[in-house]
Amino acid sequence: MFIRYFQKGFNYSQDGPGNRLVYHLHGCNFHCPWCSNPEGMDVNHTYSAFPVTKVDVDAMYDEIMSCRPMFFDGGGVTFTGGEVTLQLDALSELLKMLKNSGINTAIETNAEHIRLAEIFPFLSHLIMDLKTADAEKLYSVTGGKLQNILDNLKIASDSVDTLVHIPIIHGFNDGDEDIKKFTETLTPYNNKIKVELLAYHEYGKDKWKKCGLEYTMTDAFVPAARMKEITAQFKSAGINIIRT
Ligand code: SF4
Repeated sequence: MFIRYFQKGFNYSQDGPGNRLVYHLHGCNFHCPWCSNPEGMDVNHTYSAFPVTKVDVDAMYDEIMSCRPMFFDGGGVTFTGGEVTLQLDALSELLKMLKNSGINTAIETNAEHIRLAEIFPFLSHLIMDLKTADAEKLYSVTGGKLQNILDNLKIASDSVDTLVHIPIIHGFNDGDEDIKKFTETLTPYNNKIKVELLAYHEYGKDKWKKCGLEYTMTDAFVPAARMKEITAQFKSAGINIIRT
């Protein structure tokens, strides 16, 4: 079995604890207009500026194991994307091998795949997105199905260390009604999960241009004062807000 990725590198404490080797797997089933890795979205398309590497699972395992001395401060390996679950079977095989070898493993996912929970036993950490708690809005803007994500959240909260990432985007999910839906959705998991609020940024904008794609986001920044208000609303609902 093979895994296809478009980027890899080390970072510290950004995609899980400690020093981590992070692979960005190719392809995504969502089409978020703010995506910071547009070069990895289209599974059927690669861009000359962003080549895709295809590697056998065993070879990737060997590469990760050779990096073991670098996994300090509780570090390990993280698979992000794109969307990792597009390569679920190969990833599951690799995660199982790594977990059995004592490697700290994490994934970052949009959490929509109906078989996502199959890989929870092989994970040290799950980072999952909740882009909105409004099913219609999620589907119309990203193509994602909220119910699948909520089903996975329920299982994850009982079985794996879970951090929910929420990008806060003006005009999409930063209104009072949006925040109310978020807090109502998440409070049943208070004391079981952590939540991180991520203010909208435009880190991927130049890459959209390099890929020949149109970046359609406008007026999406959330003022710092509004971020504070939103954070306070989550906290007053008892949600465990962290910053990584
Ligand atoms: S789910 Fe993530 S990788 Fe996929 S399009 Fe949305 S932001 Fe990009």
